[in-house]
Amino acid sequence: MIIFITGKSGSGKSTLARQLAEKMGYKYVDVDSVGHGVYNIPGILEQAEKLFGRDIFDEDGAFNRKKLGQIVFQERHSERIKDFSDLTWHYMQIEIDKLLKENENIVLDWILFPHTKYWNMLAYKILVKPASDELRFKKLLERDNVKLEYLKLRDKASIEYNESDFNYIIVNDYVEEKNKTHIKHIQEQIEKTICFEVLGTKSPFALADSACPSYFLTIGKTRILLDCGSGSHRFFDMKKLDNLNIIISHLHRDHYNDLYNYMYTAYSLKNLGRLKEKMNIYLPCSPASIVDDIKSEKLTYSNVYTFDNTTKLNLGEATLEFLDISHSNEMDCYAIKIKASGKQIVYTGDLSYSNKERLAKFAKGCDVFISESSFLKGYNFPEINSHITAAQAAAMAKEAKAKRLMLTHFWAEEDVANYLAEAKEVFDNTIALKEQDKFYL
Ligand SMILES: [Zn+2]
Ligand SMILES: [Zn+2]
Repeated sequence: MIIFITGKSGSGKSTLARQLAEKMGYKYVDVDSVGHGVYNIPGILEQAEKLFGRDIFDEDGAFNRKKLGQIVFQERHSERIKDFSDLTWHYMQIEIDKLLKENENIVLDWILFPHTKYWNMLAYKILVKPASDELRFKKLLERDNVKLEYLKLRDKASIEYNESDFNYIIVNDYVEEKNKTHIKHIQEQIEKTICFEVLGTKSPFALADSACPSYFLTIGKTRILLDCGSGSHRFFDMKKLDNLNIIISHLHRDHYNDLYNYMYTAYSLKNLGRLKEKMNIYLPCSPASIVDDIKSEKLTYSNVYTFDNTTKLNLGEATLEFLDISHSNEMDCYAIKIKASGKQIVYTGDLSYSNKERLAKFAKGCDVFISESSFLKGYNFPEINSHITAAQAAAMAKEAKAKRLMLTHFWAEEDVANYLAEAKEVFDNTIALKEQDKFYL
């Protein structure tokens, strides 16, 4: 597991990160100090001198990193700072990529993480928040030997963190002994953490780098696949079908087409002695002809069950509940609620906006609301339709008081940015999912 720890200067994040890494037997890396290595690259100081002159060197000619730091802090957005950042960022990336490749388990400590491309990686994210700025300034004054006015000025330029991005938030009151408790809680949390992988977000067809709806959740040994639309199995490790539970929200092709690939692979793996237990497949009860077809498939190694509104499914670490929703006259369709590790995740499946009230009630206070958003307002469909717009998805998330909205089920040819912009006008904490995204929830 990769762990990112971040927090403002003086938050105490580095102390905690070091202790956590030691306790877990992970490698600890202070990314800032990785950056310092940039000055050892041949030619880089000459480049820096071209940009900043002799101001960044001591009288004896030695390079002075602090002097450069002062200039960077004072100028921030100047052209020469930008040029210098481009130069060092390239080097930093090579170093960070190397660290991530070489270490399976690593704790990376860096103030700037949320501003980098790495923030989208599958990493367990910890924010260390000082109990008060007074305490933090006191700590910094002791550590950095600078004036309070300077610290306050420096602080104005520091970055703000979005708390909902984090898996764990520590409020640090600088009582060292409490770190042990924090670390114990983090370890317990990590064991139960839900890993969420996106396999498909498009409809009605798959492209080379996209697939129809499918999402994969792991909680410890519990493995749950929500829908498996066309092309989505390409983003799943088909060699590993052990312990797999497949739940289909409704039997439209864009949500279950790949089910037959999974079933046939299970048959083959079983014959090779590489699958010990049957896969479990859970389907709505209708259309009966499709359910019968899946149930009668001989070349597989799976149990097939049906569920309805009253079903409460216990799958290892997770409990699943279902809400019948209107979407198509030809079949039963369900929204699915997954409760695990103290979290609630609601997946809407496909739906009409007429479900708004019932669904908001079903999803009340959920941590993550994964909603279809097939249309944009501009398509001018009637308000009540078989699918919803991004704005309607956002209105539902808002009504449900969900903590976070994840948009999916995009028209395959539409620019996803348009859905995101439309939803954010109504509900700010929204992201648009894309294939191969991974999150710890
Ligand atoms: Zn669909
Ligand atoms: Zn559908």
